[in-house]
Amino acid sequence: MRPLVLCYHAVSETWHHELSVPADVMERQLTLLLRLGYRPASAAETVTGTGKLLHVTFDDAFASVSNALPVLERTGVRATIFACTGYADDGRPPEIPELADELRARPAELATMTWDELRALEERGIEVSSHTVSHPHLTTLSDAELAHELGSSRQRLEDELGHPCRVLAYPYGECDERVRAAARAAGYEAAFGLPGDATGRDRFELFRVGVWNGEGLPRVALKASSFARSPLGMRLRGALGLTT
Ligand SMILES: [Zn+2]
Repeated sequence: MRPLVLCYHAVSETWHHELSVPADVMERQLTLLLRLGYRPASAAETVTGTGKLLHVTFDDAFASVSNALPVLERTGVRATIFACTGYADDGRPPEIPELADELRARPAELATMTWDELRALEERGIEVSSHTVSHPHLTTLSDAELAHELGSSRQRLEDELGHPCRVLAYPYGECDERVRAAARAAGYEAAFGLPGDATGRDRFELFRVGVWNGEGLPRVALKASSFARSPLGMRLRGALGLTT
């Protein structure tokens, strides 16, 4: 069985949006998966290993992810936060056109973590890695812009955190052959998509299961199942419109 990597975004009970899951809901989801036999693992272990391993990722480094810390500590589940380096100097919201209405209505929910906050999380065992500089649609960029988004973010994270930055999560989960080659050339060892490649063949298009607001436990357990994550399962899910 291939490791299970979940993709969350915000962890807030006051932001009612598909990107936001309350901490108590997340705890029930993780507790169920542990009861089903998944074992907590680091990102590196899920990249190279096999078996019933579980890792949690948070894209965009929303400040509300700090609400997940007690859950992660109680359950022992290990996690990676994918941060955009262009927003971590002052923790401002990411420039994501798709979230413009939310930003106007609820700017505090879209605040992101500063470098100090990211470093503090690393001290508590959370890994921090790259989600590019500015969260663009990578497949639309020129080669030079692509190299900048991937390379500068990796370098900045290494400078700020003091250790190698090995893993990338593509903004919007989007990549193509050119983007994957650029990620490899920028020095990453692996990259996560959303959902990614269900065959598990490509370390630069690793598969994740997105967890969204309002999904019940049975649905999360079903999406996490080995069959639902298989190429055949994904084809069936595609036919049902349930690909992430
Ligand atoms: Zn993102």
